[in-house]
Amino acid sequence: MRETEPASIPDGTGQAWRRLVATARRTHDEGLVVGTSGNVSVRVGDTVLVTPSGVPYDRLGPRDLVGVGLDGRRLLGTAEPTSELPLHLAVYRATGARAVVHTHAVHATAVSTLVDELPPVHYMTAALGGPVRVAPYAAYGTPELAGATLAALEGRSACLLRNHGTVAYGEDLDQAYDRTAQLEWMCRLWLLASSVPGRTPALLTPAQLAETAGRLRRYGRRTGG
Ligand SMILES: [Zn+2]
Repeated sequence: MRETEPASIPDGTGQAWRRLVATARRTHDEGLVVGTSGNVSVRVGDTVLVTPSGVPYDRLGPRDLVGVGLDGRRLLGTAEPTSELPLHLAVYRATGARAVVHTHAVHATAVSTLVDELPPVHYMTAALGGPVRVAPYAAYGTPELAGATLAALEGRSACLLRNHGTVAYGEDLDQAYDRTAQLEWMCRLWLLASSVPGRTPALLTPAQLAETAGRLRRYGRRTGG
């Protein structure tokens, strides 16, 4: 793989790209996206590597590497960046994100059409910063969608996009991926619990979520309980 990378790729970037491709394939293999939907990015210094537009993840290779500056200026590669580039860049500019994952996960997208906020049915809500908001609908790839996403992410590391999908960010690709998978799982959980006729799911209180947030701070990522 290394021999076929363009000579101008800086140290560390080739490895970051391989991790990005692996994460993108994982979103497909684990059912969070279908076809060429969804996109993944990772920040290396002030360069953002991002999946290219319209290339199936199983065909992504070293030649598809695309790197842009935080202002969107192309720094590396010749492929066309994902149409959701404005959304990814907005998240990097406004937060400490090192990686961003966007999917059209089916349960999360279903929930985005039903509520303005995912009801806190599970304590992992606290791991995402609190109840996950739904950003109002805006057409894909627009600055309006990027702005709505940032507002929904205030104090959170993930949000839903109405009639569209998920956005999650993290300190690295694994964390952004894990938050996406947790969000999809919680959406599935809420849909399942709330579909029982005549019953309403119990929700966690703000105090219960705050208690969990405190435990997460003390125990870090070990949220297994
Ligand atoms: Zn999308």
